[in-house]
Amino acid sequence: MTSDPIDRAGLAPRFWERKPLRKMNQHEWEALCDGCGKCCLNKLEDEDTGEVALTCVACRLLDDETCRCTQYDIRHQFVPECIVMTPDNIDDHAYWLPQTCAYRLLWQGKPLYDWHPLLSGTPASVHQAGVSVQGRTVSEFETPMEEWEDYIIEEPN
Ligand code: SF4
Ligand code: SF4
Repeated sequence: MTSDPIDRAGLAPRFWERKPLRKMNQHEWEALCDGCGKCCLNKLEDEDTGEVALTCVACRLLDDETCRCTQYDIRHQFVPECIVMTPDNIDDHAYWLPQTCAYRLLWQGKPLYDWHPLLSGTPASVHQAGVSVQGRTVSEFETPMEEWEDYIIEEPN
């Protein structure tokens, strides 16, 4: 099995089907993340319509190969605006989350996909299913914000 940086050990089987998001403990909440990396892509939001467009311009801390944050524990030192999602603020953020994000799916009352590591048993399944950002991003260091519109993509799903 590919090593998983997210601790998914010791959780009750299919806990997400029986427990509402608001009742989840920290361990359960963190385990819901599938590691797709899509929330770490920059987005463009139309101020008038509220429409959100996804770009392939990645946050400076995202590793394009593993799809993980390279400085997760201390990321706010480098990216203070990085949002910490919690059961208390998911209502405010669900609208911009990727369509396949586990938090968004459960918030919408939908099931998880079978490639989710909690079901497949391996984080590699997310990349194998083609739903992660692996190998699909450009660096925000090398891509001026004025050009981000040229990098709008359809969400891989
Ligand atoms: S989009 Fe959702 S599931 Fe994917 S990495 Fe971000 S929080 Fe995790
Ligand atoms: S700081 Fe880390 S978790 Fe936050 S958007 Fe950037 S890569 Fe993702």
